[in-house]
Amino acid sequence: MGTTTIRSSSLGYPRIGADREWKKALEAFWARKTSEVELLAQLETIRLNHLRTQRDKGIDLVPVGDFSLYDHVLDLAVQLGVVPERFGHTGGPVPLSVYFAIARGVQGATASEMTKWFNTNYHYIVPELEGAKPALLENRPLQAYREAKEKLSIEGKPVVLGLYTFLKLSKGYKAEQLDELVDQFLPAYLQLIRELDEEGVQWVQIDEPILSVSLPKAEMKRVARIYEEVRRAAPRVKILLQTYFEGVEHYEETVALPVDGIGLDFVHGYVRNKKHLEQFGFPADKVLGVGLIDGRNIWRSDLGAKLAFVNELAAQVPLDRQILQPSCSLLHVPVTTSREKELDPVLKQALAYADEKLEEIVLLVRALREGEAAVADELLVSREALEALEAHPGRVSAGVRASVAAADGSEPARSKPFAERYSAQLARWNLPVLPTTTIGSFPQTADVRQARRKWRSAEWTEEQYEAFVREQIGLWIERQEQIGLDVLVHGEFERTDMVEFFGEKLNGFAFTANGWVQSYGSRCVKPPVIYGDVEHVKAMTVAETAYAQSLTSQPVKGMLTGPITILNWSFVRDDLSREQVANQIALALREEVELLEKAGIGMIQVDEPALREGLPLKDEDGPGYLEWAVRAFKLATSSVGESTQIHTHMCYCEFHDMIDSIRALDADVISIETSRSHGEMIPALEREPYELGIGLGVYDIHSPRVPPVPEMVSIIDSALEVLDPALFWVNPDCGLKTRGVDETVASLTNMVEAAKVVRTRI
Ligand code: GLN
Ligand code: ZN
Repeated sequence: MGTTTIRSSSLGYPRIGADREWKKALEAFWARKTSEVELLAQLETIRLNHLRTQRDKGIDLVPVGDFSLYDHVLDLAVQLGVVPERFGHTGGPVPLSVYFAIARGVQGATASEMTKWFNTNYHYIVPELEGAKPALLENRPLQAYREAKEKLSIEGKPVVLGLYTFLKLSKGYKAEQLDELVDQFLPAYLQLIRELDEEGVQWVQIDEPILSVSLPKAEMKRVARIYEEVRRAAPRVKILLQTYFEGVEHYEETVALPVDGIGLDFVHGYVRNKKHLEQFGFPADKVLGVGLIDGRNIWRSDLGAKLAFVNELAAQVPLDRQILQPSCSLLHVPVTTSREKELDPVLKQALAYADEKLEEIVLLVRALREGEAAVADELLVSREALEALEAHPGRVSAGVRASVAAADGSEPARSKPFAERYSAQLARWNLPVLPTTTIGSFPQTADVRQARRKWRSAEWTEEQYEAFVREQIGLWIERQEQIGLDVLVHGEFERTDMVEFFGEKLNGFAFTANGWVQSYGSRCVKPPVIYGDVEHVKAMTVAETAYAQSLTSQPVKGMLTGPITILNWSFVRDDLSREQVANQIALALREEVELLEKAGIGMIQVDEPALREGLPLKDEDGPGYLEWAVRAFKLATSSVGESTQIHTHMCYCEFHDMIDSIRALDADVISIETSRSHGEMIPALEREPYELGIGLGVYDIHSPRVPPVPEMVSIIDSALEVLDPALFWVNPDCGLKTRGVDETVASLTNMVEAAKVVRTRI
């Protein structure tokens, strides 16, 4: 040891800023409170601060060009001249107004679609390649490189999205056109890399996360062709081909690409990458980017274990050919734990956001360069923090462990098959055919939000707030009766967020003050932290639901968030499998389901809008995930009596390839958003008959527009071409919390009328 030149690197840094100053700057500009010049100046300050932070932490290879004004996929699109025609761009660098128009839409031109970036909660803008005439309009990585050098004397490492990943994530072409597209895009892309080469850039990081998903092997030929061309165009600059989020799919072909280094994820791709590395070795002429620190989670790493891993790896790849780095860009974690003033100190100490993760990397590099003794104190602090977390009284509940273990051996199932439940439920409620209902939430008006603020800031007492919520419930029960809905809901006025609400009432959750991460554009989310065993403590929804039920003779549906959605929308502890945590949440929810049932609530909806979000990147892992996810849902819902009707709800994802799993949930009724997937859902249901209760959303809830009766009649009619009317429900696409009161009442009135029109014909 002693003189190894092992290096540290960062793959990308969060854009949002420690105080979300990036978000604030953008939103002020969009609200026309600042000018473009002011915005650009603010963003420059933020960007330079981020570079300075990374350098000052001791990172050797500081990324530049990963900073974005909205999204990095959109960035490459506009640099390569991909601007859909409707935005009327005629040439030259894309101005800010057009850039934001593509992302957010403008009068007369709808925004480009946005979708999830691999299996993260980050959403990118989908490039539309139809009719594109690729040309390099500007070179932002080069600008960023010069900026870092001139202003901070930082020799930056430009980050560029790989051309293959870019093309694969785009739309507006057919698979067989890919070769042609590569030809069309290569000249502009090569020019971008060549300019970096000519500038004297030392390292460029080219991100190809697509190499980590289930890619047909034949496609590696195309990838190889791209990198041979890149090599020819840019012979001097060192290229680090970066993969992340999983093990690379075709290891041998990937490590054989003509580049200088390969970045592998040894956290989320640990098993596959390690296996392949052992099996096939690693080329002696390349550097290995060792993705060592989890860029997707917020916990400190076990640095002792990480050091042991790096040393083990050194048998294959000597330390001076290793670069230690996070598993992926730090875009997916919050900025710094230093602002967490309120958090339980044991938890705070155990957390590592972006800045702390960089410190971990630098610490590991120092341990390897100078010997562990040189950093013994820091290593001790880290170990003690993790030991304190382990010893935290909320970490392990013997009761929870025993219940999960007991449930492990059994296959949760309702006591009766659907057909028998169906008759029991039919007899219990005597609902008309095509019963009408909603998804749960009603408008969260300014009044509702203000009431919650007053309660949170203790301006209102608990009693005042409860009285307000009851008043809202009463108002909306009356409105729903007047509208003529068959199955009512209490309206969810007491909830801000469908996960936070439950997390605050269950054991095992913590809430951070500053744990924000970018979701899309300027929108950030602050997921709860699951740090301990999840346990039901007290009734969470019974009072509001039972109160609503006491006001009406129509059935009121209870409303819970499902175990998989709670799991997928939280930062989860990493000492237990996700399946184990899902089972804990499921058992906690089961207690709530049982309490609702005891309180006389005969319909209970358990929402799972995020079921699909947990799907692993590798196709072969999908069935395993869906199996345990479905099982967790059933664990939460199957203990009820046969006449208790379990509902579920899903939205804004593709369902047509998941119908088997949806069926396996064995929910008596599912409501599915349909406006976005209409074209796919109906034929899919035709191919594969669905024989449980189902409501396909009959109107989009994203617009204040009141859908006319005939429009909804025709949607119901087309659904009934493939679905049994005896099983069909009529409902909107999703909850109505973002809508106004008047449009909600008008839309639901039309919806009830539409159901009546169709009923007369059945
Ligand atoms: N019950 C929730 C609501 O109505 C469901 C929200 C969702 O699907 N995202 O708001
Ligand atoms: Zn929904």
